[in-house]
Amino acid sequence: MSISGKAMCAGVAGWPVAHSLSPRLHNHWLRAHGVDGAYVPLAIPREHLAEALKGLRLSGFKGVNLTIPHKEAAFSLAHKLDEAARAAGAVNLLIFREDGTLEGRNTDTEGLAESLRGAGVVLSGAPAVLLGAGGAARAAILALDSVGAGEIRILNRRADRAAILANTVAPFVKAKLKPVAWADWSAAARDTGLLVNATSAGMTGQPALDLQLDALPARAAICDLIYNPLETALLKDAKTRGHKTVDGLGMLMYQAAPSFAAFYGVTPRVTPGLRAELEQALQA
Ligand code: NDP
Repeated sequence: MSISGKAMCAGVAGWPVAHSLSPRLHNHWLRAHGVDGAYVPLAIPREHLAEALKGLRLSGFKGVNLTIPHKEAAFSLAHKLDEAARAAGAVNLLIFREDGTLEGRNTDTEGLAESLRGAGVVLSGAPAVLLGAGGAARAAILALDSVGAGEIRILNRRADRAAILANTVAPFVKAKLKPVAWADWSAAARDTGLLVNATSAGMTGQPALDLQLDALPARAAICDLIYNPLETALLKDAKTRGHKTVDGLGMLMYQAAPSFAAFYGVTPRVTPGLRAELEQALQA
C-alpha cells in the first residue's frame, strides 16, 4: 500500500491503545480496497482527549474511533449524536465535519446486531438473557432489541446496576427489560432463545464465568462479546453441549465497517480473509 500526500487519515484513540485490533482491521480494508489512506493507533491520556482531538481535526484527520477510557468523554464533546449514541450514552466514532463540528456515533449496537444476524440468530419475540451491566451490555440491549427479542432479562453480579441499566435504556427499545437476580439464572434461562455474555468474566487474565448451562434449552444460541480469547470457556462448554455459538470477533469487525465508510467513503466487507488476519493477530 502506498500513502501519498493526499492520503486520508484516521485512527483509534485509547489509553492504553497498543492492544487494539482496529489498526490491523482498517489497514486490511485500506489494502483490500486500494484506498489512499492510513489508520493509526493514537495513545491519548484521558485528560488530553479534547486537546488531542482538536489537533487531529486541525491536521486534516477525517475522524477517530474511541476505545477505553474515552467513549463517554467523546459523547460529551460531540456536537451532534445519532440515536444509538444517545441510547448508549457513549460514542465509539467521531467524524470531523468540515464546518468544525464533531459528529458522534455508536456503531457497537449495529456491530453486534449484524454479527448475530450473520450467524443466523433470529429471535422473533423470544426472550434473551443478558449478563452484565457495563458499556457493552448497554449496547447489547439495543442490538438484542433490533434482532427481535421480546424480553431481555438482565443479570449482573451487582444487581442494582442491572436495574439502573434497564431504567436508562427502556425509553429507547420495544423489548421489555427485566432485571433478574443472578441467583435466579436457571429460571431466567429456561425458555430463552439467546444468552449473551457482556461481562468481562472469561477474558484472558480474568476468572471464568461461573454459570451452569444445563438450564438452557437446546435451541438457545450463546454469544460471548469477549474476543480474547476467541473461544472462551463459556463458548467451549456451549459447543460441547451442541448450542450455536457466536464469538466477539464478529461484533468487532461489523462495528468497524460504518467507521471505515465514514472515514474513507467506501463500504467494506467482512470477509473470511479479514477474520483470519485478526485471528492470527490474536494468537500472536
Ligand atoms: P465494564 O467494565 O463496563 O463492565 C464489566 C461487567 O462485567 C460488569 O457488569 C461487571 O459486573 C461484570 N463482571 C466482571 N467480572 C465479573 C465476574 N467475575 N462475574 C460476573 N460478572 C463480572 O466492561 P465493558 O462493558 O466495557 O466490556 C465487557 C466485555 O465486553 C469485555 O470483555 C470487553 O472486551 C467486551 N467487549 C467486546 C466488544 C466487541 O466488539 N466484541 C466491544 C465492547 C466490549 P459488576 O457490575 O458487578 O462489576
